[in-house]
Amino acid sequence: MNYLHAMVFSLCVAAVSPAADLSPTELKIVQAVDANVPESNALLERLVNINSGTLNPAGVRQVANILRPEFETLGFQVRWIPMEEVHRAGHLVAERKGVRGKRVLLIGHMDTVFEPDSPFQKFERHGDSATGPGSNDMKGGLTIILSALKALNTHSALDGSSITVFLTGDEEKPGEPLTIARRDLVEAGKHHDAALEFEGGSRSGGREFATIARRSASSWHLHATGNTGHSAGVFNNGVGSGAIYEIARILAAFHDQLKEPDLTFNASVILGGSTVAYDPKENIGSASGKTNIIPDKAFASGDIRTISAEQFERVRENMRKIVGAHLPGTSAEITFQEGYPAMEATEGNQRLLALLNAVNRDLNFENMEPLPPARRGAGDVSFVAPYLDSISGLGALGRNAHVPGETIDLTRQPIQTKRTALLIFRLTH
Ligand SMILES: [Zn+2]
Repeated sequence: MNYLHAMVFSLCVAAVSPAADLSPTELKIVQAVDANVPESNALLERLVNINSGTLNPAGVRQVANILRPEFETLGFQVRWIPMEEVHRAGHLVAERKGVRGKRVLLIGHMDTVFEPDSPFQKFERHGDSATGPGSNDMKGGLTIILSALKALNTHSALDGSSITVFLTGDEEKPGEPLTIARRDLVEAGKHHDAALEFEGGSRSGGREFATIARRSASSWHLHATGNTGHSAGVFNNGVGSGAIYEIARILAAFHDQLKEPDLTFNASVILGGSTVAYDPKENIGSASGKTNIIPDKAFASGDIRTISAEQFERVRENMRKIVGAHLPGTSAEITFQEGYPAMEATEGNQRLLALLNAVNRDLNFENMEPLPPARRGAGDVSFVAPYLDSISGLGALGRNAHVPGETIDLTRQPIQTKRTALLIFRLTH
C-alpha cells in the first residue's frame, strides 16, 4: 500500500511543472527527458532482451554494439577496451572532451548476473513496471545515462563539456587480477573531477537515498602449522599445541579484540587436521585427522569490510599482531587479497550530494539522504573514489535485483533521468 501511495505521489510530482528555480535551458532539458520516455523504454527492452551475463562475452559486446552508435550520435568518441587477458568481455568508454566546468565521469556496467543458462531471459512489461534480467541492475541505469545525455544534447548543453562514460563488462564478477580489470577505470578516475555511478537507487520507508560512502571489501587467508605427534604428547615441551588450537586462538582473538563501528570481518571457512586441501577459486576443501594424532595443518579464510583506508590498514596490522603471538610449537601466517577500496564519505562527496539535493529541490523532487554504508556492498565507483568526488545509487529503482523476477519501476525512470541531466548540467556549467 505504501508502495502504491509512493508511486501515485511520484507520478504527480513528475507531472507537475518544475519550480521556478530552473533556468530556461534547464526547463527545456527537463521537457526533453519527458519527450524521450517511449524511446528510452524501447531501448531498455532491447538491452534487457540480450543476454549479457558476465561470463557471456559475446552478449556483453552485443550490448556495447547497441550503445556505441547512441553515444557517437551525441558527439562522443567511443572506444572498446578488450579484457581477454582477465577472461572477460571488455569495457566501453565514450568520451567528450572540452574545457568548461567540472570533468564528469559516469560509471555503469553492461553485464548482469543472469548467464545464458538462467531461466530468466526476457523483458516483460506490466503497466508501470517491467521484469527482466538486469532491468534494474543496471540496464535501467544505462538508459538513464543515455536519456540524460540526449536531453542535454537537444539543447546544445553538452558543447564544451568534458564527460566520460565508462561502462564495465564485468561488474558482477570482475576479472582477476583487479589491477588489470580496473586499471583503465582507475586511470579515468585520476583525470576527472566528479564520478556519478548508476547502480540501482534506494528508496525505503518513504525516504530516498544516495550513496556517498561504501565499505571496502577484501578477503584474508590464514594458514597455521604445528608439530605433529601422538596425541598423548600434546602441550608437552617440544611438541606444543598443534595447528588447530593455534588457528582457534587466532580466530577467538579476532572475535574478542577487533570489533569496532563500521568494521566487519567474517570467518567463512575453516579446515584442520593431518591433511588439508582447499581450492580458493571454488571455495571448497577437505581435511582429515585421527583423534590420536596432533594436527600439523589448519586453514581459515573470510572477508573484511572497512569504512576507510585508515581503518583497513590499522585492523590489518592488529590482525597480523594477533597472528604473530604463537602458541608453543606452532606458527601462522595471514595474507590479504586485493579487493575493493573503501569509498569514504569525504567532504567532496557530501558537496556532490548537496548539489544533487539542490537539483531535487528545484525539480520539486524528494531530498536524498546518504545511505548507511553497511547497506550497500562494494562497487566499481569504489575504485575511483580515492581520486575524485563520487556519488552512487543514481540508477533505476526496482526490486529483486540479482534474482529471477528482477523488476524495474518505470515511473521512476524520468525522475532519475531529470536529476541526472541537471546534475551533469550544473557540474559542467
Ligand atoms: Zn550492478
